Amino acid sequence: MPKVRVRFAPSPTGYVHVGNARTALFNWLFARHHGGALVLRIEDTDAERSRPEYEFRLVSDLLWLGLDWDEGPGGGGGAPFGPYRQSERQEIYATFANQLVEAGHAYYCFCSPEQLEAEREAALQSGRQPRYSGRCREIPRREAERRRASGEPAALRLKIAEGVYRWADLVHGETSFSSEVMGDLILVRSDGHPAYNYAVVIDDHLMEITHVIRGDDHISNTPRQLALYRAFGWTPPEFAHLSTILGPDRARLSKRHGATSLQNFREMGILPEALRNYLALLGWSPADGKTEILSPEELIAQFSLDHITKSPAVFDMDKLKWMNRHYMKQRPLGELAARAVPFLAQAGFIEEPAAPAVLAWLERLLDAVLKNVTALVQLPDAARCVFLYDGQQALATFHNSAVAASNQVVETFIPEALKEDSLTYARFREIVRDVQAETGMNGTALFHPIRVALTGEISGPELEKLIPIFEEGSKLPLPKHVKSCAERLRDFQAAAKL
Ligand code: GLU
Repeated sequence: MPKVRVRFAPSPTGYVHVGNARTALFNWLFARHHGGALVLRIEDTDAERSRPEYEFRLVSDLLWLGLDWDEGPGGGGGAPFGPYRQSERQEIYATFANQLVEAGHAYYCFCSPEQLEAEREAALQSGRQPRYSGRCREIPRREAERRRASGEPAALRLKIAEGVYRWADLVHGETSFSSEVMGDLILVRSDGHPAYNYAVVIDDHLMEITHVIRGDDHISNTPRQLALYRAFGWTPPEFAHLSTILGPDRARLSKRHGATSLQNFREMGILPEALRNYLALLGWSPADGKTEILSPEELIAQFSLDHITKSPAVFDMDKLKWMNRHYMKQRPLGELAARAVPFLAQAGFIEEPAAPAVLAWLERLLDAVLKNVTALVQLPDAARCVFLYDGQQALATFHNSAVAASNQVVETFIPEALKEDSLTYARFREIVRDVQAETGMNGTALFHPIRVALTGEISGPELEKLIPIFEEGSKLPLPKHVKSCAERLRDFQAAAKL
């Protein structure tokens, strides 16, 4: 087998969608598994919709996901098959276009958009599949040249040879399309821009791509591309078309399903290792079919196109969150604290960059609240009781909660606790024991009122963890002051007029 060369060929016209990210990941896994090369090719021939900032975003998103490539824009590795941006390959496309015209495989088409639209309409009306009639095929070369020279706009079309175009798709198996369903396709538009199907064939051939792994929305383009390979007399690469990704309602995954771009997942605080692991299993499974948590090395070792499913894969946000939690638990708290900073800063709770003392405190905070969090975006909410304590609100919660709130407990507890400059958990336990002895309350009836008075909430992380967080947090210069235990209890007292 020749050295494997694959490519990821995005169009920089928007943010990277999970479907494209999975295509990139599968290409990367395939290349790494076979010790081959991955090419990043930017398909920016649509000058109106392509933007450099999308290309920049795309590169940054792929790197975030942990992918790397061997050749691509920006050089590196001597860029043997470059340039890697289609907008920089116009001359190459022009040369090959001339070659096709010379060989009689392509011809100029002078049909106006209105004419083509009318033909399309007529076909649809009579229940036929619309396809180009081939009207301009018969225009003699010389006449076509003359009309072009006089400035008449013309597109270049491929004369599709009659017959059946088939390939053994590495995912879908034997696939074929008859030339009857394909009109002569446009290779170069009248504005001089190469069409997707044309540029992609030239590039895949010149870049010596051995396997084209892409989304199955391109299946109907493949016979057209095969027609071009045939016209040039080139051997086509192998094709593998990946199934569509669906939302939970089994409709094609789209923005209305919520988070779908890598950008969205980054903003949610999904860890790249979790997303990478999750995407790898979206339509592929390891040989044993069971293992779910796989490191990049394990994914590379086990990846094979043989275990890709033909049927659409359903995107399961809960599973992704479950995986994210798994990976979060594995990360050192120090690293998570650093990653948590932007999320807490956005809520106005801390400042960016965070001082070392704040980071150290955040580790404690994360240790307390992480078990209620599946993605870092939930952190401000999970840490609400630390940053947003309000006596009135705590009192309202106290009165509304189902367990009989005992005034007696808080009336006994608060004055004792307020005697401490800084409450420790050990001292807290002693005071609670005294309150128990004095009031005769225990269990929930004892702890519940105290928790509500201290945190404003009926449930939450262990007080053993929260008490030092409140005390230490109150000494830090934070934009949203963290109230100490004493400050909380005084607020509560004032609200309750105890
Ligand atoms: N630019 C195309 C896309 O983003 C690439 C398709 C292909 O891989 O051939 O869909």
